[in-house]
Amino acid sequence: MNSKAAPLRDEFPLLAAAPELRYLDSAATAQIHRSALDAVVRHETTRRANVLRGTYRLAEAADIAYAQARQTAARFLNAGSTDEIIFTSGATASLNLVAHAFGNTLKAGDRVLISLAEHHSNFVPWQMLRERTGIELNFIPVTSGGELDLVALPRLIDARTRLVAVTQCSNVTGAWTDVAAIVAAAREVGARVLLDGAQGVQHGPQDVQALGVDFYAFSGHKCFGPGGVGVLWGRGELLAKLPPFLTGGGMIASVTPQATTWALPPQRFEAGTPPIAQAVGLAAALDWMMTLDWQQIHARESRLCELLIEGLQRIPTLRLLGPAPSAARAPIVSFEISGLHPHDICQVLDAHQLALRGGHHCAQPLLAALGVEACTRASIALYNDESDVLALLDGLTFALKELR
Ligand code: PLP
Repeated sequence: MNSKAAPLRDEFPLLAAAPELRYLDSAATAQIHRSALDAVVRHETTRRANVLRGTYRLAEAADIAYAQARQTAARFLNAGSTDEIIFTSGATASLNLVAHAFGNTLKAGDRVLISLAEHHSNFVPWQMLRERTGIELNFIPVTSGGELDLVALPRLIDARTRLVAVTQCSNVTGAWTDVAAIVAAAREVGARVLLDGAQGVQHGPQDVQALGVDFYAFSGHKCFGPGGVGVLWGRGELLAKLPPFLTGGGMIASVTPQATTWALPPQRFEAGTPPIAQAVGLAAALDWMMTLDWQQIHARESRLCELLIEGLQRIPTLRLLGPAPSAARAPIVSFEISGLHPHDICQVLDAHQLALRGGHHCAQPLLAALGVEACTRASIALYNDESDVLALLDGLTFALKELR
């Protein structure tokens, strides 16, 4: 593989056009890489047609582009087969798909285990399933640093547990989940594992076979691709046994007034017109990601993260949330400053061209466990550099003077 050094801002059209912008909100949405944007434009201007329906040449070109996008996603995830890749509108749709398709195979009394660190996208669908079917929903607690407290695992998982659904990495604290420990515990009782990869995928290609999970969900906009597209990967033999979630065009084998039969996966799970150009754009982003030197990028991001944490620790009344500063984490750093609301902090920072998110980050159970209602989050990506971190520390000094 041809491994490239960390890319520059110039490769990201929005950042190239706004040199003054300090973008530190990549955990919410990463900036789109030029290759992905170009691929979307090329597709829409040369191959735009619906897929798996037309027999004219333009439609066939669209079919080929869409099939190639699926192959690329399969390579990026090291899936066993391209048929295991389902295109969705994003991680939320992928997670809801599992909560419905797999959820419909569960019955009252079956157990699903999630954690208190989940994004609402991997929390609320399971509460809804509990309401629909009477399953029992259990929660892995978190430590004071927001990491999954796996000490509690043995008493939370048993033969009635059918699924463990957890995040790969917290969108609030950057804490990585010990996936191997979760998979080992799940396998002992015959439970399946769903990994919410929304925050993991930005940090390089994944290997779902090595991870040992059964489902993996992510969004394109978090890994330098377009919005409106995501992926659900599922083990082939498992997908083959699941009923569809959404129904309509494109997902059937036959329809009569009496009954409908389903197409094989992945079509069974892609009802209606899929996000075609977005999938093509996502594939370009994933292709580009597969050329990068991720070891070098991780080392660089960790250095920036350390620099940020050191600077934040010098600010009086600031409380850092998340794992101990020495622990391995994704470059996501959240904090609260006593007496200041994160929205006010973010507004002052915005006046200094610093884009950060403040709020509950769609993770209210986690914030409650950490004892805060809202926090400010800086998330670093491969296009950030030291000047962004130093500008943020300066901006915070200014915000403290302005707001106190
Ligand atoms: N899961 C996690 C951990 C997230 O951080 C997010 C988004 O922030 C999601 C799921 C939902 O992703 P999307 O809004 O792209 O569907």
